Amino acid sequence: MADRYLHLTGTAPGRFLTRRLGLPQPAPLRRWTLETPHLDGPLLHLTAGASAVTGVAEALRTSGLTVTERADRPAAIVLDATGVATAAGLGDVHAALHPVVRSLAPGGRIVVLGTVPSPDDHHQAAAQQALEGFVRSLGKEIGRGSTVQLVRIPGARIPGGASAHAAGSTLRFLLSPRSAYVSGQVIELTSAAPDPGSAPVTDPAAPLTGRTALVTGAARGIGAAVASVLARDGARVIALDVPGAREELERTADRLGATALPLDITAPDAADRIAAAAPDGLGVLVHNAGITRDRRLANMPADRWASVIEVNLDSVLRTTDELLKAGTITRGGRIVATASIAGIAGNTGQTNYAASKAGIIGLVRSLGPRAAAEHGVTVNAVAPGFIETKMTAAVPLFIREAGRRMNSLSQGGLPVDVAEAVAWFAQPDSTAVNGQVLRVCGQSLLGA
Ligand code: NAD
Repeated sequence: MADRYLHLTGTAPGRFLTRRLGLPQPAPLRRWTLETPHLDGPLLHLTAGASAVTGVAEALRTSGLTVTERADRPAAIVLDATGVATAAGLGDVHAALHPVVRSLAPGGRIVVLGTVPSPDDHHQAAAQQALEGFVRSLGKEIGRGSTVQLVRIPGARIPGGASAHAAGSTLRFLLSPRSAYVSGQVIELTSAAPDPGSAPVTDPAAPLTGRTALVTGAARGIGAAVASVLARDGARVIALDVPGAREELERTADRLGATALPLDITAPDAADRIAAAAPDGLGVLVHNAGITRDRRLANMPADRWASVIEVNLDSVLRTTDELLKAGTITRGGRIVATASIAGIAGNTGQTNYAASKAGIIGLVRSLGPRAAAEHGVTVNAVAPGFIETKMTAAVPLFIREAGRRMNSLSQGGLPVDVAEAVAWFAQPDSTAVNGQVLRVCGQSLLGA
């Protein structure tokens, strides 16, 4: 279902009318294309006080943007606030960004680099936590399709003791058109070193070359977009969906040069059949299949409850356990699951769905560190907000319109926005990104 309002505000009379009425002014977002893979302008690198990490400039250079310390119209601004450890130090954050924030180009990016709030220094913890409120507020007021995020670099409290090197893939993603619908997010990196068992990247334009990726629920919607973006990044893709969706699945797989695997993910032998379809193992496993069976709890029969928990959560837990145990997910592998804003904020009529999606968040946070230690595998989740798919097209008009506008970018996201986030988790150099839940929601007001 097309967003007609976004189209209307893109025309001069529409813009005039909606401004006069005080209605939201969504800016058209620029997504990644082969012809325009980068933001259009330089990257302004600023520091609040003294930095507590090394390697920031090197990590920023991997963004493909021209890094400068002075720019009239930057496409991106990165503020290194890793050294901010006192309330007074927050003045440096204001002093650095206040003079330049207006000069940011439309559709621009602001990334604040911070560090993990300390459990044993409450002044440092206060100052670093303050950055979260700062970033979330700036995301809400910046407008014009621009986004603002906080990236926490681990171990940055000891000057010279931490490096921004591990932040490379994260900065590349956030400072590019690929993260168009991600705003107001806090990403906490781990200090993990790259897994020595994982194969090196031979082609930076296709970093997943040589890796096999399996995507569940890939016949349509977000899953089909994930399959497409992973194929673009060089992966051999296996697209899985229920046998009832075989025709649509085969069409999607053919279009992408992927292999179709018609299989109900809740089948007792699902993990075995996945392993059989990937004899060389899986480098990427994306749990995307999901269903809704909405009813208020008082009206919800047990079967509606059970089917949602089974598809959205239990089958994810079961297949993950079995595929990890069998060694099907290779070292350096990536598991990405799909949560939802409903799992964070809750939603009327969705006790079953929200429970299943909150369960995904629990799974990712608990398993991430252990899967990395035991198998060299990271486990992360995307939490989509309002994404334009068949699932949301079925939502009644007024609720749909509210869902679309109630975020800082005043519009719904596209399946590709979720897919780009999945692809960032899947990058071979995203080893330090683990146990994270990234909201792809345009900074939804729900659960904010
Ligand atoms: P969709 O309904 O368009 O696609 C889901 C796919 O999963 C379908 O092709 C379906 O056949 C498949 N599927 C369902 N049960 C399956 C099973 N047992 N085994 C294998 N495949 C199965 O939905 P979508 O909007 O593309 O959503 C994809 C994921 O994103 C879901 O997990 C959903 O909960 C989540 N999500 C979507 C939104 C949104 O706004 N669209 C928001 C938050 C989260």
